[in-house]
Amino acid sequence: MSIPPRKLSLENALRLTLDAEPWLSCDDCFEQVDRYVERVMAGGPVGMPALRAHLVGCAACAEEARSLVLLVAADDGVDPAPSLRRLTAP
Ligand SMILES: [Zn+2]
Repeated sequence: MSIPPRKLSLENALRLTLDAEPWLSCDDCFEQVDRYVERVMAGGPVGMPALRAHLVGCAACAEEARSLVLLVAADDGVDPAPSLRRLTAP
């Protein structure tokens, strides 16, 4: 008597590959960082924990986000400092 090999269904395979969440690639981050910065600068709840986690761990994307904040703040004539602090604040 032998044990039949277990098959990994596509659904379970996809679930396994999602286990590293929150995780974003730099491309994903780039696509969403505008929205993230908008929320940060609006001063309300930001959400998007995967993006925040990415910014904490990725200097290149964090720099991109900081540049966006500085740009928008200059456009709007507001102080960028609070938003810069909120970018990666828990
Ligand atoms: Zn990145």
